[in-house]
Formats: sequence, structure tokens, C-alpha cells
Amino acid sequence: MGKYHRPCSLKEALDVLATLHVTVAAGCTDLFPATEKQRVQGNVLDITAIEELRGIVETEVGWRIGASTTWTDLLETNLPCGFNMLKEAAREVGSIQIQNVGTVVGNLCNASPAADGIPPLLALNAEIELASSGGNRSLPLAEFLKGVRETDLSHDEMVIAIHVPKKSGDGVSSFLKLGARKHLVISIVMTAVRVVVREGIIREAAIAIGSCSPVAQRLTAVETKILGIPIDEAPNTLNSDDILVSISPISDIRGSADYRLNAALELLRRALRDIAENVR
Ligand SMILES: Cc1cc2nc3c(=O)[nH]c(=O)nc-3n(C[C@H](O)[C@H](O)[C@H](O)COP(=O)(O)OP(=O)(O)OC[C@H]3O[C@@H](n4cnc5c(N)ncnc54)[C@H](O)[C@@H]3O)c2cc1C
Repeated sequence: MGKYHRPCSLKEALDVLATLHVTVAAGCTDLFPATEKQRVQGNVLDITAIEELRGIVETEVGWRIGASTTWTDLLETNLPCGFNMLKEAAREVGSIQIQNVGTVVGNLCNASPAADGIPPLLALNAEIELASSGGNRSLPLAEFLKGVRETDLSHDEMVIAIHVPKKSGDGVSSFLKLGARKHLVISIVMTAVRVVVREGIIREAAIAIGSCSPVAQRLTAVETKILGIPIDEAPNTLNSDDILVSISPISDIRGSADYRLNAALELLRRALRDIAENVR
């Protein structure tokens, strides 16, 4: 049987990581279903007692979301409107019980194509901070995610925080998720849209789409196309070719590529319409 570690400091956690092959455990809401056993197998490093990893702090350069920050913690934190899409995603992660223990970082590290936290954090230009006993390194979320359930983490590293730059707090944002039903459902398509609008014109845009490819993607062609145009007109300027420039949606048991493409276009248009209403 493996060993169970529940350190109270990051230093102790990194010492464990340096000496043992362990599974990092946070809320365990992904780990338990994946294990299909009574307990998580092998050595476990439970990070939930490390106080310094919990919560969101505003710094001079942005916001730091600690690795054991739960979805509920996020929802209870006062954050600017650029984060609204991440909060909307938080409300859709499973149920309140799941949000109370599941962490934002756990959602990223599990690297599911359908992870609801990934598109909003891509559109917030998030960076991921990794630590090992040898030191820390940071990389953009898009580089941290390597493929389906694959990340850039080494066996002796853990994620300690997500960093969102100050400028990403700007603008108005919206997250929309399509599933086979309204609640407690895995996404077929989700979109995260953040735009900065001044005098009715789109001045900045950050848009990401999830559940349509092995790793969620930014839609840079769409972002470029809507820059400089009135927010009211933006929804109608988009067509499916704008999405296909960045992504070829997948087909699977939950939906065909064509269905996903149509749904993605409709969600993007709805998100932009919602935002247009908000900035009026
Ligand atoms: C009933 C149910 C409904 C769900 N609904 C949704 C949903 O609607 N949308 C959605 O996106 N997800 C959903 N999930 C999945 C899950 O709740 C989320 O992905 C959650 O955010 C995972 O966080 P966690 O803290 O529980 O991660 P854990 O299960 O503890 O860990 C997940 C993975 O990340 C690794 N990990 C965790 N923290 C770190 C770290 N700091 N450093 C390195 N590795 C780390 C773990 O080793 C593991 O591989 C659902 C799960 C359940 C059981």
C-alpha cells in the first residue's frame, strides 16, 4: 500500500515530491472517478492543508490563484468583470458539492478536453507556476497543456499557482456551455469571450473554445476579425469559416464535427450579444 502525505507547508510538499513518486491530490473529484477503486492508488501527496496555496490575491501585476483554491473560493472572491466568464464556468462545474472541494488548478492538471476552466483561463492569458525542490518556472497555459490528459508537469513538480495579468481583468466577459442537459453535464462545446468595448467599438478581444479539440484553443482569427467593429454588429459578422481557421472540431459520441461547428458559432454569437446588452 502507498503512503499518504498531508504536509502543511509547500516546502514539505516539495521535499516529498523530490524523494517519492506521488500522485498530487487536491479535491479528488477527478482522481476518484478515474481510479475506480476505494482509494487513490500508490503514494498520495494531499495538498489541501497547505494554507499558503489557498485563495486568490491581487498583486501589483495581476492575480494569483493558489493551487488549492476551490471553485467556491473563486466564486466568493471579488474580481473584475474580465473574470466573469471564469465565474460563470465555476457555477457550471458539477454541483455545489463538487465546487466546494474541486480546485481550479485540479481542473487544469487533469487536462480533460472538456474541462470548463480552460477556455476562460486561456482568454485571461493565464500563466501556470510550477515548483519543484530545484526551483520554480512559469509558462503560458497553452504551453502547459500538451494533449488529452497530458501536461508539461514533470514527476517531481507540482502546480503552485495560476497567474492572471492585470490587463486581463479589463473588459466584459461571458462563458457559455452546451451539454446534453442544463446541469451536471459534460460540455459538448463551450466558449469563453472577453472583449474591451469603448464607445460601442471592440478594442480588444480574447476568445477561446473548448470540447471541440484535444486541447481548448484561442480563436485568434475571430479575435482579429471583430477588432474595431461595433459590438452590436460583431455577432452577425462571424461565420463558420472564421472558426475553421483555428480549429477543426472533433466528432465523438457527444456530437459530430458539423454539430460542434454550428453550436460553437451559435454560442459565440450569443456570447457577443450578451456582452452587447451588458455594455449598453
Ligand atoms: C460529479 C462530477 C461532476 C463534474 N462536473 C464537471 C464539470 O461540469 N466541468 C468540469 O470541468 N469538470 C467537472 N468535474 C471534474 C472535476 O470536478 C474538476 O475538474 C475539478 O476542478 C478537479 O479539481 P480537484 O481539486 O478535484 O482535482 P483532483 O481530482 O484532486 O486532481 C485532478 C488531477 O490534477 C492533478 N493535480 C491536482 N492539483 C495539482 C497540483 N497542484 N499540481 C499538480 N497536479 C495536480 C491530480 O494529480 C490529478 O491528476 C466533475 C467531477 C465530478 C465527480
